Amino acid sequence: MRRQVIDPLVRREVIETWGNDCWLELPGCTHVGAEDDHIVPYSHGGMDTVPNIRRACKHCNASRQDRVLYGYGARLHMVIVPPGSCDREAMDYIDAHKQPGDPVVSFTGLARAMGLTEPSVGERRAVAMAWSGAYRQFAVSQEPVDVWLTRTMPNSRRHPRMLDEWVALDYDIHVLDPGFEVEWERAAGEEARRRVRQWYALHLSQALIDSRQSRRRARLVQLGLRADAAKVAARPVW
Ligand SMILES: [Zn+2]
Repeated sequence: MRRQVIDPLVRREVIETWGNDCWLELPGCTHVGAEDDHIVPYSHGGMDTVPNIRRACKHCNASRQDRVLYGYGARLHMVIVPPGSCDREAMDYIDAHKQPGDPVVSFTGLARAMGLTEPSVGERRAVAMAWSGAYRQFAVSQEPVDVWLTRTMPNSRRHPRMLDEWVALDYDIHVLDPGFEVEWERAAGEEARRRVRQWYALHLSQALIDSRQSRRRARLVQLGLRADAAKVAARPVW
């Protein structure tokens, strides 16, 4: 893909209109605008215009690749659940909210599609790679499709701060937590209980996510990328 050369007059107007701070705020952001970043990626037909360009730091511009901001292509709905709840809470929630035909990407669903009922370590790794591959592809999709993804730990070796990336790109994030006692009861065996403890050590909650997202949305409003900061998607009640 060729590097973009932006008209200096367009760049000057971008900086005058939106400022020179990095718009992306991905993990590792230096906040100093050093490059021109296309909101609708150049590879998706995004134009070299003031409405479509914001300043980004070198780090964010490189690590974003062609991932789209929520709604500027695919709309990613991330459903975070503790380890024992994938099949129940997450799928019930998704079934209640998705439209017919929306893709669903879940570890259990992928394992089942591979014919795995009790996957070994190696098989689990293969399922995780299938999950990541689908996630990466939908994250850059320019089609306005709603995609539902379930996840227990919002991090990976490749993306240790995955949750921060989701907030930066303004994904729709839901935490479904039936409570530690319920999960502890459901966990069969020492390994399952270790994973439950690990999940609760993250202290994830919808309230925490909502407050981070409302700050991020206020910033996106300043950047002319959101009309209304106050609107937060309907949340499940527990
Ligand atoms: Zn940055």
